[in-house]
Amino acid sequence: MAKYWLTDLQNSLVDRCLQLFGGYGYMDEYPISRMYRDARVQRIYAGTNEIMKLLIARSL
Ligand SMILES: Cc1cc2nc3c(=O)[nH]c(=O)nc-3n(C[C@H](O)[C@H](O)[C@H](O)COP(=O)(O)OP(=O)(O)OC[C@H]3O[C@@H](n4cnc5c(N)ncnc54)[C@H](O)[C@@H]3O)c2cc1C
Repeated sequence: MAKYWLTDLQNSLVDRCLQLFGGYGYMDEYPISRMYRDARVQRIYAGTNEIMKLLIARSL
């Protein structure tokens, strides 16, 4: 539950931060670009968030 919730929140936050930088935020020279890339994979590895939802649903 924590992995799903936190990684979703991380992605939503970093997405909003990148938006603040506009096009510059998408360039490698800006650390926010790396943060955006690094955040995205969190919803995939160690079990994708869709699979996390299935596991949570099973426990309800
Ligand atoms: C950088 C990185 C490091 C990794 N390190 C490790 C490691 O150290 N050890 C290890 O064991 N693995 C590791 N992995 C593998 C990782 O755990 C898998 O990538 C992850 O479990 C997703 O599996 P998959 O890539 O086969 O995607 P798939 O299972 O093919 O999923 C593709 C998409 O379909 C969705 N999906 C699949 N099944 C369902 C379903 N039933 N319902 C709804 N949606 C579904 C997924 O959510 C996903 O969006 C790593 C992956 C990456 C990217």
